[in-house]
Amino acid sequence: MKRLLCLIMLVALLLPALALGESQMARRPDIDTEAELDPPYDFDPETMLPREFGPYFEQEYPVSVDTYPLLPGTEWENTVTVLKAEQEGPVIYVVAGVHGGEIAAWSAGNLLKKIGIKAGTLYILSPANPWGAAAEPRSRYVRGEEDLNRSFPGDPEGNAAQQIAHAIFTDMRDKNPVFVFDLHEAATNKEGRDFLGRSLIYTTLDGIEDMYLDLLLETQLGTLTSMPFDFFSPGPIGSINNTVANDLKIPVITVETYRADPMEVRIADQLAVVQFVLRDYGMVE
Ligand SMILES: [Zn+2]
Repeated sequence: MKRLLCLIMLVALLLPALALGESQMARRPDIDTEAELDPPYDFDPETMLPREFGPYFEQEYPVSVDTYPLLPGTEWENTVTVLKAEQEGPVIYVVAGVHGGEIAAWSAGNLLKKIGIKAGTLYILSPANPWGAAAEPRSRYVRGEEDLNRSFPGDPEGNAAQQIAHAIFTDMRDKNPVFVFDLHEAATNKEGRDFLGRSLIYTTLDGIEDMYLDLLLETQLGTLTSMPFDFFSPGPIGSINNTVANDLKIPVITVETYRADPMEVRIADQLAVVQFVLRDYGMVE
Protein backbone atom coordinates (compact mmCIF):
# COMPACT_ATOMS: atom_id res chain seq x y z
CA MET A 1 0.00 0.00 0.00
CA LYS A 2 2.76 2.32 1.00
CA ARG A 3 4.54 1.44 -2.21
CA LEU A 4 1.48 2.19 -4.30
CA LEU A 5 1.04 5.51 -2.57
CA CYS A 6 4.68 6.39 -3.22
CA LEU A 7 4.32 5.48 -6.85
CA ILE A 8 1.22 7.62 -7.27
CA MET A 9 2.92 10.57 -5.60
CA LEU A 10 5.98 10.07 -7.73
CA VAL A 11 4.04 9.95 -10.97
CA ALA A 12 2.15 13.07 -9.90
CA LEU A 13 5.43 14.82 -9.23
CA LEU A 14 7.05 13.71 -12.45
CA LEU A 15 4.11 14.19 -14.78
CA PRO A 16 4.65 17.89 -15.40
CA ALA A 17 8.29 17.20 -16.28
CA LEU A 18 7.39 14.33 -18.57
CA ALA A 19 4.62 16.28 -20.24
CA LEU A 20 6.73 19.33 -20.91
CA GLY A 21 9.86 17.40 -21.69
CA GLU A 22 11.80 20.60 -21.22
CA SER A 23 12.18 20.95 -17.50
CA GLN A 24 15.43 19.01 -17.56
CA MET A 25 16.69 21.12 -20.41
CA ALA A 26 15.92 24.20 -18.38
CA ARG A 27 17.98 22.90 -15.49
CA ARG A 28 21.12 22.48 -17.57
CA PRO A 29 23.55 25.32 -17.14
CA ASP A 30 25.01 26.71 -20.29
CA ILE A 31 28.29 24.80 -20.33
CA ASP A 32 29.58 23.23 -23.51
CA THR A 33 32.87 21.63 -22.75
CA GLU A 34 34.28 19.30 -20.13
CA ALA A 35 37.12 21.76 -19.63
CA GLU A 36 34.73 24.25 -18.09
CA LEU A 37 33.69 21.74 -15.45
CA ASP A 38 35.35 21.09 -12.12
CA PRO A 39 36.62 24.55 -11.20
CA PRO A 40 39.63 24.50 -8.84
CA TYR A 41 38.75 23.03 -5.48
CA ASP A 42 40.84 22.89 -2.37
CA PHE A 43 41.93 19.28 -1.83
CA ASP A 44 44.41 18.02 0.71
CA PRO A 45 46.90 16.20 -1.54
CA GLU A 46 47.74 13.69 1.20
CA THR A 47 44.24 12.46 1.93
CA MET A 48 42.54 13.57 -1.31
CA LEU A 49 39.77 14.97 0.88
CA PRO A 50 38.25 18.40 0.35
CA ARG A 51 39.72 20.77 2.95
CA GLU A 52 36.67 22.92 3.39
CA PHE A 53 34.02 20.30 3.77
CA GLY A 54 31.84 20.73 6.82
CA PRO A 55 30.13 18.10 8.97
CA TYR A 56 28.58 15.34 6.92
CA PHE A 57 27.65 12.39 9.13
CA GLU A 58 27.13 13.51 12.68
CA GLN A 59 26.84 10.28 14.59
CA GLU A 60 29.75 8.77 16.44
CA TYR A 61 29.90 5.03 16.90
CA PRO A 62 32.83 2.84 17.79
CA VAL A 63 33.95 0.97 14.68
CA SER A 64 36.94 -1.16 13.86
CA VAL A 65 38.70 -0.02 10.70
CA ASP A 66 40.60 -2.50 8.60
CA THR A 67 42.00 -2.57 5.07
CA TYR A 68 42.98 -5.25 2.59
CA PRO A 69 44.41 -5.14 -0.93
CA LEU A 70 42.89 -6.06 -4.27
CA LEU A 71 45.38 -7.40 -6.85
CA PRO A 72 48.20 -7.23 -4.26
CA GLY A 73 51.72 -6.82 -5.57
CA THR A 74 50.58 -5.85 -9.06
CA GLU A 75 50.62 -2.57 -10.93
CA TRP A 76 46.87 -2.38 -10.31
CA GLU A 77 46.83 -2.89 -6.56
CA ASN A 78 44.10 -1.00 -4.71
CA THR A 79 42.84 -0.94 -1.13
CA VAL A 80 39.44 -1.75 0.32
CA THR A 81 38.55 -0.14 3.65
CA VAL A 82 36.30 -2.07 6.04
CA LEU A 83 34.28 -0.41 8.79
CA LYS A 84 32.85 -2.90 11.23
CA ALA A 85 30.37 -1.88 13.92
CA GLU A 86 30.18 -3.51 17.34
CA GLN A 87 26.61 -4.56 16.62
CA GLU A 88 25.81 -7.23 14.03
CA GLY A 89 24.00 -5.99 10.94
CA PRO A 90 23.87 -5.89 7.17
CA VAL A 91 26.85 -5.76 4.81
CA ILE A 92 26.95 -2.93 2.26
CA TYR A 93 29.66 -2.43 -0.35
CA VAL A 94 30.43 1.06 -1.73
CA VAL A 95 32.42 1.48 -4.93
CA ALA A 96 33.21 5.12 -5.69
CA GLY A 97 35.01 6.63 -8.63
CA VAL A 98 35.14 3.70 -11.04
CA HIS A 99 35.60 6.62 -13.42
CA GLY A 100 38.64 8.53 -12.15
CA GLY A 101 37.53 11.94 -13.41
CA GLU A 102 34.37 11.93 -11.30
CA ILE A 103 35.76 13.81 -8.34
CA ALA A 104 32.72 14.21 -6.09
CA ALA A 105 32.06 10.47 -6.35
CA TRP A 106 35.41 9.43 -4.90
CA SER A 107 35.55 12.42 -2.54
CA ALA A 108 32.31 11.17 -1.01
CA GLY A 109 33.75 7.64 -0.96
CA ASN A 110 36.87 8.87 0.84
CA LEU A 111 34.78 10.79 3.37
CA LEU A 112 32.77 7.63 4.08
CA LYS A 113 35.95 5.94 5.30
CA LYS A 114 35.80 8.28 8.30
CA ILE A 115 32.20 7.72 9.41
CA GLY A 116 30.91 5.60 12.26
CA ILE A 117 28.20 2.99 11.81
CA LYS A 118 26.12 1.56 14.62
CA ALA A 119 25.53 -1.86 13.06
CA GLY A 120 26.86 -4.04 10.28
CA THR A 121 29.84 -3.82 7.97
CA LEU A 122 30.68 -1.27 5.31
CA TYR A 123 33.20 -2.04 2.57
CA ILE A 124 34.51 1.02 0.71
CA LEU A 125 36.60 1.00 -2.46
CA SER A 126 37.45 4.63 -3.26
CA PRO A 127 38.70 5.67 -5.73
CA ALA A 128 38.05 2.42 -7.54
CA ASN A 129 40.06 3.91 -10.41
CA PRO A 130 42.92 5.79 -8.69
CA TRP A 131 44.94 5.71 -11.94
CA GLY A 132 42.38 7.80 -13.79
CA ALA A 133 41.93 10.00 -10.70
CA ALA A 134 45.68 10.71 -10.60
CA ALA A 135 46.05 11.25 -14.35
CA GLU A 136 46.66 14.74 -15.72
CA PRO A 137 44.06 15.66 -16.80
CA ARG A 138 41.92 13.33 -14.69
CA SER A 139 40.43 10.54 -16.73
CA ARG A 140 37.38 8.34 -16.88
CA TYR A 141 39.61 5.47 -18.06
CA VAL A 142 42.10 3.18 -16.32
CA ARG A 143 44.60 3.66 -19.17
CA GLY A 144 44.12 4.44 -22.84
CA GLU A 145 40.40 4.03 -23.37
CA GLU A 146 39.92 1.05 -21.06
CA ASP A 147 36.63 1.77 -19.31
CA LEU A 148 36.41 -0.08 -16.00
CA ASN A 149 32.66 0.34 -15.92
CA ARG A 150 32.24 -1.51 -19.22
CA SER A 151 34.57 -4.34 -18.20
CA PHE A 152 32.52 -6.30 -15.66
CA PRO A 153 32.49 -9.11 -14.67
CA GLY A 154 36.10 -8.85 -15.83
CA ASP A 155 38.82 -11.29 -16.80
CA PRO A 156 41.93 -12.17 -14.78
CA GLU A 157 43.85 -12.64 -18.05
CA GLY A 158 42.38 -9.58 -19.80
CA ASN A 159 43.50 -5.97 -20.13
CA ALA A 160 44.04 -3.76 -17.08
CA ALA A 161 40.40 -2.69 -16.75
CA GLN A 162 39.22 -6.30 -17.09
CA GLN A 163 41.68 -7.53 -14.46
CA ILE A 164 40.60 -4.79 -12.05
CA ALA A 165 36.91 -5.45 -12.77
CA HIS A 166 37.45 -9.17 -12.09
CA ALA A 167 39.12 -8.40 -8.75
CA ILE A 168 36.29 -6.08 -7.68
CA PHE A 169 33.58 -8.45 -8.89
CA THR A 170 35.16 -11.45 -7.15
CA ASP A 171 35.59 -9.53 -3.91
CA MET A 172 31.98 -8.40 -4.03
CA ARG A 173 30.79 -11.95 -4.64
CA ASP A 174 32.85 -13.17 -1.65
CA LYS A 175 31.59 -10.44 0.69
CA ASN A 176 28.00 -11.01 -0.47
CA PRO A 177 26.56 -7.61 0.53
CA VAL A 178 22.82 -7.00 0.72
CA PHE A 179 23.28 -3.83 -1.33
CA VAL A 180 25.93 -2.15 -3.48
CA PHE A 181 26.49 1.56 -4.06
CA ASP A 182 28.23 2.73 -7.22
CA LEU A 183 29.08 6.43 -7.01
CA HIS A 184 29.55 8.41 -10.25
CA GLU A 185 29.22 11.82 -11.81
CA ALA A 186 27.48 12.82 -15.02
CA ALA A 187 29.00 15.07 -17.65
CA THR A 188 27.15 17.67 -19.68
CA ASN A 189 24.94 16.62 -22.52
CA LYS A 190 26.69 15.15 -25.54
CA GLU A 191 25.37 13.93 -28.82
CA GLY A 192 24.90 10.18 -28.87
CA ARG A 193 25.13 9.86 -25.12
CA ASP A 194 22.35 9.80 -22.55
CA PHE A 195 22.20 12.85 -20.36
CA LEU A 196 22.20 11.43 -16.84
CA GLY A 197 22.28 14.67 -14.87
CA ARG A 198 21.43 13.96 -11.27
CA SER A 199 20.10 10.46 -11.21
CA LEU A 200 19.70 7.15 -9.43
CA ILE A 201 20.21 4.21 -11.79
CA TYR A 202 19.09 0.65 -11.10
CA THR A 203 18.93 -2.60 -13.00
CA THR A 204 16.73 -4.46 -10.54
CA LEU A 205 14.72 -3.23 -7.58
CA ASP A 206 14.16 -6.72 -6.17
CA GLY A 207 13.92 -6.28 -2.42
CA ILE A 208 14.56 -2.52 -2.44
CA GLU A 209 11.36 -1.28 -4.12
CA ASP A 210 10.08 0.69 -1.12
CA MET A 211 13.47 2.10 -0.21
CA TYR A 212 14.17 3.20 -3.78
CA LEU A 213 10.80 4.91 -4.16
CA ASP A 214 11.15 6.66 -0.81
CA LEU A 215 14.65 7.80 -1.78
CA LEU A 216 13.57 9.11 -5.16
CA LEU A 217 10.56 10.80 -3.64
CA GLU A 218 12.66 12.58 -1.01
CA THR A 219 14.92 13.97 -3.72
CA GLN A 220 11.86 15.07 -5.69
CA LEU A 221 10.37 16.76 -2.64
CA GLY A 222 13.63 18.59 -1.98
CA THR A 223 14.03 17.18 1.52
CA LEU A 224 17.21 15.21 0.85
CA THR A 225 19.30 16.59 -2.00
CA SER A 226 19.97 19.99 -3.56
CA MET A 227 17.92 19.12 -6.67
CA PRO A 228 15.48 16.39 -7.72
CA PHE A 229 17.08 13.19 -9.00
CA ASP A 230 15.79 11.33 -12.06
CA PHE A 231 15.65 7.57 -12.46
CA PHE A 232 17.14 5.45 -15.22
CA SER A 233 17.25 1.71 -15.85
CA PRO A 234 18.99 -0.56 -16.60
CA GLY A 235 22.69 0.07 -16.09
CA PRO A 236 24.77 -0.40 -19.28
CA ILE A 237 26.15 -3.82 -20.23
CA GLY A 238 29.51 -4.38 -18.57
CA SER A 239 28.80 -1.91 -15.76
CA ILE A 240 28.91 -2.77 -12.07
CA ASN A 241 25.24 -1.87 -11.87
CA ASN A 242 24.10 -4.28 -14.56
CA THR A 243 26.52 -7.12 -13.85
CA VAL A 244 26.23 -7.27 -10.07
CA ALA A 245 22.43 -7.04 -10.27
CA ASN A 246 22.09 -9.73 -12.95
CA ASP A 247 24.93 -12.14 -12.10
CA LEU A 248 25.05 -11.84 -8.31
CA LYS A 249 21.39 -10.91 -7.74
CA ILE A 250 22.49 -8.04 -5.49
CA PRO A 251 20.66 -4.71 -5.94
CA VAL A 252 22.86 -1.79 -6.97
CA ILE A 253 22.10 1.90 -7.10
CA THR A 254 24.37 4.08 -9.18
CA VAL A 255 24.35 7.67 -7.96
CA GLU A 256 25.12 10.31 -10.58
CA THR A 257 25.72 13.88 -9.49
CA TYR A 258 26.00 16.55 -12.14
CA ARG A 259 29.44 17.95 -12.86
CA ALA A 260 28.18 21.46 -13.54
CA ASP A 261 26.97 21.83 -9.94
CA PRO A 262 29.35 23.24 -7.30
CA MET A 263 31.70 20.58 -5.91
CA GLU A 264 30.50 20.82 -2.31
CA VAL A 265 26.88 20.43 -3.46
CA ARG A 266 27.78 17.31 -5.44
CA ILE A 267 29.66 15.74 -2.54
CA ALA A 268 26.89 16.62 -0.10
CA ASP A 269 24.27 15.08 -2.42
CA GLN A 270 26.30 11.87 -2.78
CA LEU A 271 26.61 11.60 0.99
CA ALA A 272 22.93 12.40 1.57
CA VAL A 273 21.86 9.55 -0.69
CA VAL A 274 24.29 7.12 0.95
CA GLN A 275 23.18 8.19 4.40
CA PHE A 276 19.53 7.69 3.48
CA VAL A 277 20.22 4.10 2.47
CA LEU A 278 22.45 3.32 5.46
CA ARG A 279 19.68 4.64 7.69
CA ASP A 280 17.14 2.46 5.91
CA TYR A 281 19.32 -0.58 6.64
CA GLY A 282 19.65 0.45 10.31
CA MET A 283 23.38 1.14 10.04
CA VAL A 284 23.16 4.81 11.09
CA GLU A 285 20.53 6.93 12.81
ZN1 LIG B 1 30.94 7.39 -14.27
